Amino acid sequence: MTRFLVALALLLASTTVARPKLGVIIVVDQLSADAFEARAAKTTGGIRRMIDQGARFRDLRFEIAPTITSAGHATIVTGTYAASHGIVSNEWIDWQSGKGVLSTEDHAYQTLDRPPAKQDGTAPTHLRVPTLGDALKVSDARAKVVAISGKDRSGILLAGRSADAAVWFDSERPIFTSSTFYAPKVPAFVEPTNQALGAALLKKLFTWGLPGGGTTGANPIPRGRQGDSEPDAEQPALQPLLDAWQIDLALAAVKSLQLGADEVPDLLAVSFSGHDRIGHGFGPDSPEGVAEFLAVDKEVGRLFDGLDQQLGKGSWVAVLTSDHGVAPVPETMLARRIDAGRIDLKKLREALEDEADARLGPGDWFAGNKTPGITATAQGREKVLAIADALRAVAIRQPGVLDLLPGPQLQAGALGSSVEVWRRGYVPGRSPDFTVVSKPYWIYTKKDVTGHASQWLYDRSVPALFLGAGVTKGVHEQAEAIDIAPTLARLLEVPPPAGAQGKVLREIVAAASGAVPPSGRTP
Ligand SMILES: [Zn+2]
Repeated sequence: MTRFLVALALLLASTTVARPKLGVIIVVDQLSADAFEARAAKTTGGIRRMIDQGARFRDLRFEIAPTITSAGHATIVTGTYAASHGIVSNEWIDWQSGKGVLSTEDHAYQTLDRPPAKQDGTAPTHLRVPTLGDALKVSDARAKVVAISGKDRSGILLAGRSADAAVWFDSERPIFTSSTFYAPKVPAFVEPTNQALGAALLKKLFTWGLPGGGTTGANPIPRGRQGDSEPDAEQPALQPLLDAWQIDLALAAVKSLQLGADEVPDLLAVSFSGHDRIGHGFGPDSPEGVAEFLAVDKEVGRLFDGLDQQLGKGSWVAVLTSDHGVAPVPETMLARRIDAGRIDLKKLREALEDEADARLGPGDWFAGNKTPGITATAQGREKVLAIADALRAVAIRQPGVLDLLPGPQLQAGALGSSVEVWRRGYVPGRSPDFTVVSKPYWIYTKKDVTGHASQWLYDRSVPALFLGAGVTKGVHEQAEAIDIAPTLARLLEVPPPAGAQGKVLREIVAAASGAVPPSGRTP
């Protein structure tokens, strides 16, 4: 009996871990599970540390489509999908006005230190449920929440409503900025980085402009996309700089705002947007793509080292994942005799407009097209939905189109289980009236080298890695994207965000001393 009690006491002592003081969410924008597995062996930095010492899921599944940045970031921090959180895409066509709306657009606020733009990401107003950061604030008002990103939408959505700071890179100026939603001026910790990056960027831009400049030497002048207002956005040599500045800012925020300094857990979120820009501009298998991933690996290492120094080892817990994957470059697939290509959504909309004119009489039937579909005009909506079968027959004759799903049937679940992922991404008033389902390896873009948004696994499967206080080391196969927020909440010993539908990934959570918050998956 005595021996049993001693054993029990030893077991309890060995499995009790201190509550982490800081949670860290790292999003590597556009990182498919396949790309991660292919590159993992090359890592030497923070991602290597996560592989060697942490817990890892090879296949974190987004059980939703479309697979797009804003929707993915919102899912990671809310633990639910777009049908609940409301963020269906980066930009959608509003059903009433017929006009494009950005996922983080709110004209009541404006980007700091520049004139208001016609469309601008400034606030999480369209987000319908709380984020993990909000959950921390609900749990204890002293909790601090900071998000740092290369894109406004990623920073704002990771942060949520109650955050102390959301900071992102405004490539037009270029400078790190925020919006009046968060504060009247940029946080003090941003200023040294902004001062340093001005001079550094000028020097770099000059070097890239010279013959043989740039990373590869083959493409010294930034390969601006057609009609792109940010010609340098995909400059491969810019992104590692951007990654490094983001980590400079993250570590400055930890110091300046005293993140992780007291017993109330705080949250730091970082989204590496440069990785997505390189993916779109060069493809996931390109040398540029691999180089950018390794730059992220290095910067994640610098973040972890900085946290160890500032807060102490074992006092923080981190998760690294992605907002969506990416398709292989269609032309590369074609060369292997795999059916692949690019859907022309505009051309498809014109074909549907012709069919509607023929059946309903000449009219203004469609307001526009935005990935992944086509939106009717407010006055034409009811009539075009009534001829959905005829429109579908037209659509599936277009190259790359597998199906055309009308919204009401999608929402009612009348189309069968194969489109369940699209139903989870459907929000009336925001989602297209007609969702265009692509054939495998067909992408929705013509201007980028490749893209994402589809229902296919290469877009829906990403890695997830956990490291730090309370995490049990191990390699696992599947988890779901909505499990991230409840699991990190569990590790931080706070209740999950109120809308979360995912479960706690118990296989990685070491037995802790704190109370177990609700964790069951709700229907
Ligand atoms: Zn993205």
